[in-house]
Amino acid sequence: MNDKKPISRRGFLSAVAALGSIGLASCGTQSTKQPSVTTADRSAGKLPDRGEFVVRGAQILTMDSGLGDIPGGDLHVRAGEIVAVGKDLRISGAETIDGRQMIVLPGLIDTHSHLWNTPLRNLVDEGPKMGYFALTLALGKEYTPEDTYRGVRLGVAEMLYSGITTVHDWSHNIRGPAYADADLRALRDSGIRARFSYGTPQGGLSRDQTMDLTDLARVQREWFTGPSDGLLSLGMAARSLSDSPRGAVSIPTLHRDWDGARKLGLPITIHTGGKGRVALLESEGMLGPDVQLINPTGFDEADFGRIVRSKVHVCFSPFAELRSSFVSSRLVDLLKHGILVSMSIDTAAISGNNDMFAHMHAVIDTQFAIYKDPLSVSPRQVLELATINGARDLGIADRVGSLTPGKQADLILVRTTDLNMAPLGDPVQAIVRSAQPHNVDTVVVDGRILKRGGHMTAIDVQQVVREAAESLAATRARAGE
Ligand SMILES: [Zn+2]
Repeated sequence: MNDKKPISRRGFLSAVAALGSIGLASCGTQSTKQPSVTTADRSAGKLPDRGEFVVRGAQILTMDSGLGDIPGGDLHVRAGEIVAVGKDLRISGAETIDGRQMIVLPGLIDTHSHLWNTPLRNLVDEGPKMGYFALTLALGKEYTPEDTYRGVRLGVAEMLYSGITTVHDWSHNIRGPAYADADLRALRDSGIRARFSYGTPQGGLSRDQTMDLTDLARVQREWFTGPSDGLLSLGMAARSLSDSPRGAVSIPTLHRDWDGARKLGLPITIHTGGKGRVALLESEGMLGPDVQLINPTGFDEADFGRIVRSKVHVCFSPFAELRSSFVSSRLVDLLKHGILVSMSIDTAAISGNNDMFAHMHAVIDTQFAIYKDPLSVSPRQVLELATINGARDLGIADRVGSLTPGKQADLILVRTTDLNMAPLGDPVQAIVRSAQPHNVDTVVVDGRILKRGGHMTAIDVQQVVREAAESLAATRARAGE
């Protein structure tokens, strides 16, 4: 989109729809043996242009400790980059966006989400047959690459709508090369910034079977070498050290998986809910700064020491942990030890939606309850988890996570005049305690405006919803539901 001219929405949507059908057709017909993507396919789909604009008169939360908050501030973006932020910027020739009733802040960052199973929301119920793990296993086995594309696209569309500009896509149902490509295409076509972590298929590997390291190397070669816009990056999603049949993997196998990923220079992510996991990983010599540990629900003082020593970082999932483990992670203890902590939604199938505002709100009050102290954690610290800390966790803090000149323009504008936001008190509290996805007026990723005036500019929401529902219905039918 050229920001100096109004977008032709109809023309744009039809181009995107056409592109979507091409992508889906190829997903649906691909054999796992065919080469599924060429180097040329790595280019972004039809997305708005990176234009030049200046947001004027906004309440800016830079989340950069050197710049602080700027009431009535301006922010200048050009060709995908934040050029300047401050008061009364003198700029000519750029489109002006009125920010006087807006809070401007960095786009929110989700550091662990199983996007493929987004359509399973509200099918998951409590109990052995309909629990999250049973259901994702039963339906995951029936997924086609096209279902993966549509599931990921639904999750990403909701995230962008809700102000999330970066996601760590924890893809743990890769049943063949076409699934990995379908997932990556859904990310690429949406324009979101993402790390794609390549995992194993639901119910597909035995304890002693190494993951498909050959295809992992192929994905790196085909999607992540050569020139790119830098929106997508690659990681490896490791199987859990768990006694459950779903996650069971032997230690020698885990070593083979991890060694293979490390040879490719990829960061590793692993769920570590429960007790004893961190100690085991340390005793096996597997921890390091390239590792993200998810769900610190069972960590004790000794684990905190192990984490500090090994410089691993930690991601927690407030609603998923409440629902699945019946606890809240001890965030304040993690922060007290100087551990890098970020936030994640985990999966809409458990948390219900992809609303990071609700997660921030839940975090602050559950921490008050745990520590019985309303000064234990501040709204600003919670907002840091969902912005700059997320960027640090994913190794991209030099590019995003704060509104610092020179960084890429990933930012959101949140309306302060909506019924649930007005009147504006403290802007940080307003984001953490009051904001909801529908208050997000504008979403910018890498300088592209992907939501404006409350409307998605590059995603046909009705198509995304309809096709996700069709895929889910077909998947359930194949599973015999
Ligand atoms: Zn998870």
